Amino acid sequence: MASSKILLITGVSSGFGRALAQEALADGHTVVGTVRSTQAKRDFESLSATAAFARVLDVTDFEAIEGAVAEIEASVGPVDVLVNNAGYGHEGIMEESPLAQMRQQFDVNVFGAVAMMKAVLPFMRERRRGHILNITSMGGYITMPGIAYYCGSKFALEGISEALGKEVAPFGIAVTAVAPGSFRTDWAGRSMTRTPRSISDYDAIFNPIRQAREEKSGKQLGDPRKAARAMLAAIAAERPPVHLLLGSDALGLVRDKLSALQEEIRTWEPVTISTDH
Ligand code: NAP
Repeated sequence: MASSKILLITGVSSGFGRALAQEALADGHTVVGTVRSTQAKRDFESLSATAAFARVLDVTDFEAIEGAVAEIEASVGPVDVLVNNAGYGHEGIMEESPLAQMRQQFDVNVFGAVAMMKAVLPFMRERRRGHILNITSMGGYITMPGIAYYCGSKFALEGISEALGKEVAPFGIAVTAVAPGSFRTDWAGRSMTRTPRSISDYDAIFNPIRQAREEKSGKQLGDPRKAARAMLAAIAAERPPVHLLLGSDALGLVRDKLSALQEEIRTWEPVTISTDH
């Protein structure tokens, strides 16, 4: 077994967070997981009497985060690994989707994750060690119609992760952005926010996408338990990756995106280099 660590994982009630917590516990690690109800707290703590701790925390309760992390450090122990997993998908055509839904998407997927990182960093910096994993998405590289706010939030978290990694590397702290493809979790089911349709112009482009996502929910290719094993390998690595794709769908789609981007850069290169003084 790799050396035993304390992991703080946001959103351990289902999906990736739950799978990672279970695999980490099986490996002898201690897990502090955040949940959003006392029932979910009891449920999580029943996984292990000695190594599973839950805290009720909504990651958009920004005022509460610093105190919650300080309490965990004092009562459970030093957080070796923070996993910013809590997040959800907003689905809706951008023109149809209120700005309030964009704010909510960014509050959870971006501001919540950043608030958690800001709360653990003073402790990790003092110890000169630590690892932060941010669960982004292949939607942090590729896009499709109907998930503009979600992709925006995951592109943002990818960018923040990469820049932060450069800031904290001198202190022995690693930051890994983990970008899964489609996995069998509650993401496209109970957790997704779907904006109702209102502009028929978008029917042709978007209706098939919405329908396909609903039909695919529960049948996705990716296995969260295998994703958890992959994340534990990254956590155990001496030099953890800055970016980690999970799933063959993510691999294919991101590779296609990068080669299309290279191609477009080549096509427009003369214009690009025409602007220097
Ligand atoms: P999930 O089964 O729906 O799990 C999401 C978890 O996040 C739940 O524990 C949920 O808690 C928690 N959560 C949501 N909003 C929260 C908030 N405001 N504060 C605290 N916790 C909150 O879906 P999942 O797929 O495992 O999602 C985990 C992460 O993976 C997300 O960031 C998601 O965007 C990302 N991801 C998923 C996929 C995929 O295909 N599944 C692909 C790429 C990326 P409650 O039970 O209280 O709602």
